[in-house]
Amino acid sequence: MSYDDSNIFARILRGEIPCRKVFEDDHVLAFEDIRPLAPTHVLVIPKGRYVSAQDFSETASEAEIVAFVRAVGRIARERGIDASGHRILANHGADGRQEVPHFHLHLVGGRDLGRMLPSARE
Ligand code: 5GP
Repeated sequence: MSYDDSNIFARILRGEIPCRKVFEDDHVLAFEDIRPLAPTHVLVIPKGRYVSAQDFSETASEAEIVAFVRAVGRIARERGIDASGHRILANHGADGRQEVPHFHLHLVGGRDLGRMLPSARE
């Protein structure tokens, strides 16, 4: 899948759409999810044009990957959800129900998040 420059996160990165910024450095932007599912629900995105988790893992530079992973940890600590626990997830592709085709991680916490997924038998 090629990168679509009109996706909503590309527009946020270009400053065309506002966001509630949580963190920014040369490689990473993090902001509040517009429809939070928990007291903390932060989206962490690379500034580079990566469609998905797969694309990022295959083609991002080591500097981008290191900055990204460190940013996620830093935000969790700053939000005080380090000790209490939290969840970090990336939706990829159709089965993962990825809505926005710019790679992002969801960092959620601040309450008991329940089981990760319903059992396949339910
Ligand atoms: P996905 O399903 O792609 O993993 O998640 C996309 C996330 O982006 C959703 O949680 C959705 O609420 C969030 N989102 C969609 N549009 C916007 C927006 O314009 N601003 C912000 N801050 N979040 C958005």
